[in-house]
Amino acid sequence: MISLKDAQEYVLQHCRVGSPEIRSSQSSLGLVLAEEVSTNENVPPFDNTAMDGFAVRSEDTLGAPQQLEIVGTIPAGSTPDFSVSSGQAARIMTGAPLPEGADAVVMVELTKVEEDYVTVQKTVPQGNHIRRAGEDLKSGQVVFEKGTRLTPTHLGVLASIACLEVSVFPPLKIGVMSTGDELIEGETPLQPGQIRDSNRHSLLALLHDLGLEGVDLGLIPDSEEDIEATIRSACFGEDSCDAVISSGGVSMGDFDYVKVVLDRLGDMQWMQVAIKPAKPLAFGLVGDTPVFGLPGNPVSSMVSFELFVLPALKKMMGESEIWAPQIRAIADSPLSRRPDGKTHFARVQASIEDGMYRVKFSGGQGSHQLSAMADSNALAVVPDGDGIDEGEFVEIILLHQLTRRLNAS
Ligand code: AMP
Ligand code: MG
Repeated sequence: MISLKDAQEYVLQHCRVGSPEIRSSQSSLGLVLAEEVSTNENVPPFDNTAMDGFAVRSEDTLGAPQQLEIVGTIPAGSTPDFSVSSGQAARIMTGAPLPEGADAVVMVELTKVEEDYVTVQKTVPQGNHIRRAGEDLKSGQVVFEKGTRLTPTHLGVLASIACLEVSVFPPLKIGVMSTGDELIEGETPLQPGQIRDSNRHSLLALLHDLGLEGVDLGLIPDSEEDIEATIRSACFGEDSCDAVISSGGVSMGDFDYVKVVLDRLGDMQWMQVAIKPAKPLAFGLVGDTPVFGLPGNPVSSMVSFELFVLPALKKMMGESEIWAPQIRAIADSPLSRRPDGKTHFARVQASIEDGMYRVKFSGGQGSHQLSAMADSNALAVVPDGDGIDEGEFVEIILLHQLTRRLNAS
């Protein structure tokens, strides 16, 4: 067996970030910048008021209340063609530029208007409620570094500096196939020995959840020829994929052909990783396309996706932070296990109480018990040994977070 860390490193070493492309900023939500972005405009572009109120000279408000003459009104979007002299004030709306002569704004709530005069109730300092040009971004500065994943807020900033196009790592297209003679699809009645394919559906949905493009490569029988043809066309075909995920056929069984085929087509490693579930993993490059041979048991294939495929996809997308954060939680009930030289990734339900995560098993821990995994929202990392006692700390990895999106959708 090899350690999880070594296996993850091996996979990552063989996955490369894609070539950048220029895209419109608005279609780049979730993509990662391949080049830094800078601005040649100030944000805000001019000094302006943060409040509706009156633009004044602050010295005129000394010894308030003070009465000032109203010399004009400045709506947002206009430029004042008058200035404010001693003893004067201008009505001004949020976002409007300051008139010459004024150096402070008094909010409307602190004023009283009588005909052409305003009484200012409070002394205000210079610069009061004024937003200075360049206070958010200065012309010439770097706005976002390479490696930044673009969120909705980033798209707003890019629009605010008229950055209409960005250099980003393109969205990934990932092929997904299931292998196994026992598998069937749809409503067809089960014949003895048959089960229904679930992995392809959960793996495609995981990709969709991440905002990546999943390509359904189908349900492939345990036949070397069929598996080879499918992987060849996904890696070398006209519309080839950036990576391929298959499930099944990587264990010790007599008909486990995925590893045989990968061995023939590419530079393949077949690993026994010191984890449970998801011990077997085949991984290799076919041409330069990473191919992941995940184990067939439904829970194993999903855990393997989280531990190996997800960090690799993040790297290929140009992300700088590829590891899922581990969060400390308290075991609400014992997370029992036996020593076996492996780290266990238990499916747990995590909830927050008094600001602390608390976890318990979400159900049966067999690698075929997918419905228990569906009830879980985290994996607990249970080190080799006799498990975690009730009330002890355990590290967890959250699943299905809202922030999972890697990519444009
Ligand atoms: P394998 O890795 O091919 O030896 O499969 C291990 C176990 O997972 C077997 O019980 C398979 O029937 C089951 N299995 C394999 N592929 C799938 C799939 N796509 N959906 C559901 N179960 C599967
Ligand atoms: Mg099989």
